[in-house]
Amino acid sequence: MKRRDFIKTAGVAGSLVAAPAIAVAGKTIKWKMVTTWPKNFPGLGTGANRLAALIGEMSGGRMKVKVYGARELVPAFEVFDAVSRGTAQMGHGAAYYWKGKSEAAQFFAAVPFGLNAQEMNGWLYHGGGMELWTQLYADFDLIPAAAGNTGVQMGGWFNKEINSLRDLRGLKMRIPGLGGEVLKRAGGTPVSLPGGEIYTSLQSGNIDATEWVGPYNDLAFGLYKVAKYYYYPGWHEPGTTLEALINRKAFAALPADLQSIVLNACKVVNQDMLAEYTARNNTALHTLVTKHKVDLRPFPEDVLKKLRSLSDEVVAEVAAKDARARKVFDSFRRFRDEARAWHDISELAYYQARA
Ligand code: CA
Repeated sequence: MKRRDFIKTAGVAGSLVAAPAIAVAGKTIKWKMVTTWPKNFPGLGTGANRLAALIGEMSGGRMKVKVYGARELVPAFEVFDAVSRGTAQMGHGAAYYWKGKSEAAQFFAAVPFGLNAQEMNGWLYHGGGMELWTQLYADFDLIPAAAGNTGVQMGGWFNKEINSLRDLRGLKMRIPGLGGEVLKRAGGTPVSLPGGEIYTSLQSGNIDATEWVGPYNDLAFGLYKVAKYYYYPGWHEPGTTLEALINRKAFAALPADLQSIVLNACKVVNQDMLAEYTARNNTALHTLVTKHKVDLRPFPEDVLKKLRSLSDEVVAEVAAKDARARKVFDSFRRFRDEARAWHDISELAYYQARA
């Protein structure tokens, strides 16, 4: 019997107070997790798998979460709606995919020239970010949680050299979120495509260029076979936060200990994914360069400088679109400025000293 039916039968529909009694009665709580990633995709899909497994382990088997890859239950970009309406109790994706729902969502994934992974986590957990994110998703009956981070991404795969901003003109590139808006400002055409469709789109010429994640994921997709140049750094995604979406009613129906387990499992995966990327990008980069002879290039300084100035314009305009985006951006910007003052004399100074 489905949980919802059980509640109805028990005559307590609408009453969340009675639900915990069901949970402790020994019945396994079964959740579905829909994801925007191809099933078992390295890092992202496996991160979602790990999250589901952790919830099962930490709950001693009282909860069981089944993971669905993109298109298994719903298409990649319908994950938000599916969890919002309760088709699945949980989802795993990235908040910039939902800018159509709310412009402010993008700040919780990645902002061009914004926060890196360490700083995103600082802002979310201890700088007021999580509270703002929770408020934003409440209208959609969703509870968000940070559930993974890729670290600084790569700039992307191109079939022509990028020597000046002019080289981006007319370029049709897969690049999501605010980074895509910046490309548009530079005269290019941003395309939003789920990961699983990137390779064939680039191969068939439907797109001219793409970014995806970094060496670990890009190697797995074989993008080196369909593009010549691999540019860095990923100015558009300096520390992308992946998210878990939780249906508010399903969450409210859990006893307090299982609620804590779900949220803390997200926190574990949030940190663990970053550690995995940090370790695996190294070896993947080595393979790309030595085995597949990938032409690795830095974006020219002048290009980065102009992209940064366009990014400032774009981000400020998005923030001006509605009151919520403004509120989130103000908090984000304040944290970024403070983090920069500290990280310039700590992280940056150390990297420079080590180099
Ligand atoms: Ca990306």
